Amino acid sequence: MNPDKVFFEPAALKYELGKELRERFCDIPWVAIQSHNKIDELRAKSNREFPKLKRHLIVGVRKSLTHTPNHKVSDFLVPYTSSGCSAICLYCYLVCNYNKCSYLRLFVNREQMLYKIIKTADDAQKDLVFEIGSNSDLVLENTITGNLEWTIENFGKNKKGLITFPTKFDMVGPLLSLNHNGRVIMRMSVNPQEIITKIEFGTSPLKRRIAALNSMCEAGYKVGILIAPVILVENWRELYSKLIDRLAEELTEKAKRRLFIEIIFMTYSYVHRAINREAFPKAAELYDKELMTGRGRGKYCYRDDVRAMGEEFLRNQLEVKLPGVPIIYVV
Ligand code: SF4
Repeated sequence: MNPDKVFFEPAALKYELGKELRERFCDIPWVAIQSHNKIDELRAKSNREFPKLKRHLIVGVRKSLTHTPNHKVSDFLVPYTSSGCSAICLYCYLVCNYNKCSYLRLFVNREQMLYKIIKTADDAQKDLVFEIGSNSDLVLENTITGNLEWTIENFGKNKKGLITFPTKFDMVGPLLSLNHNGRVIMRMSVNPQEIITKIEFGTSPLKRRIAALNSMCEAGYKVGILIAPVILVENWRELYSKLIDRLAEELTEKAKRRLFIEIIFMTYSYVHRAINREAFPKAAELYDKELMTGRGRGKYCYRDDVRAMGEEFLRNQLEVKLPGVPIIYVV
């Protein structure tokens, strides 16, 4: 990422990471703000300026450290060192939460956040799993802050618990030699290359994502694959069939033996439509009135019967092409 401007909370500069960022990005403007949650100048921008906003970096101190119970891959969703992202996936659910303010925010109080995870892990009866990447992409963030390397090294020393994060990026080189101690699960999010090209702007190509997963598995990390989000474009059967062919061909035997799969169908929203229509008028339209239905205020998802048909198709394909790989849930 090459940010063009940094908005910062002055308190962030009291932290080591805040000082490092200040030095690293000393040749672009730094604008002081009161709160990373409310930057009026950016909120007032039009939807058309969404891609430009994604070039800003926000540096602050995370205040809310509440762990939210979760029942999929992890026991808790944990607020961690960033939220938002500099890539642009047209369906990104962070857009729903932050609207056009889904730019990358970095939080410099990482010691406080990791300490809380470690304390909760140590106090528990069983090995808890903490999802640290539900608000951003930590592999991407790591290229700016080194936070993921720092986290893995420090959490790896702990005797209890696991951390997990999903990613759509392949820059895992700096993670391979770390002492993760088997306490880290990386989940690579994949989609057909045609969908990556047309809808997941700025993320890594499929080939490199699969290679990154193989390398992480070889380095002893626990690994998973997220087929997510499944988008039912016109030729979706052909695209997802080819995707699963490629997984079967390009994943190493070791990775196939160790991984698990999650499948998540796309949800979309009125906010996405408004931003995408104005910021990317030529991009693919993801809302399909034939296949989708309303779900909550301003949100859309695939109709139950449509989703069930997609699920059956994917389960059949996976059973034939990646036999024995567990599918832990489909939503
Ligand atoms: S890479 Fe992940 S966090 Fe970033 S825009 Fe895409 S879906 Fe959102």
